[in-house]
Amino acid sequence: MAHTCKTVVVTCIDFRFQPEIHRWVEEKYGEGGFDRVAYAGGVKSLETILEQIKLARKLHHIDTVVLVNHEDCGAYGEAGTREKHGEDLKAAKERVEREIPGVTVELYFLTLDKKFERVE
Ligand SMILES: [Zn+2]
Repeated sequence: MAHTCKTVVVTCIDFRFQPEIHRWVEEKYGEGGFDRVAYAGGVKSLETILEQIKLARKLHHIDTVVLVNHEDCGAYGEAGTREKHGEDLKAAKERVEREIPGVTVELYFLTLDKKFERVE
């Protein structure tokens, strides 16, 4: 049997969001299987998460990358406005698409009241 999955999901480490993230990911991406990366600030540390996404592609042949940043992120501190998260998520998407041709990238902003808002 091939040892593959469909999706890699990248989120912050923040414990406050993990139960909801896990439920959401299971429901939305559970069927094809998923890898999960948790790193403080999510896409804030783009080089580090990019390396993990490349490994998920190489090892498990994922074709979908889901990037989730969240409101009130300690890794961003005061700089973490909604606009800044949006900009960083979009920049990360461009970079992933450029460096890993053929993957689809989905962006989400997770609010403190645990809503996953799609970022386009
Ligand atoms: Zn955070």
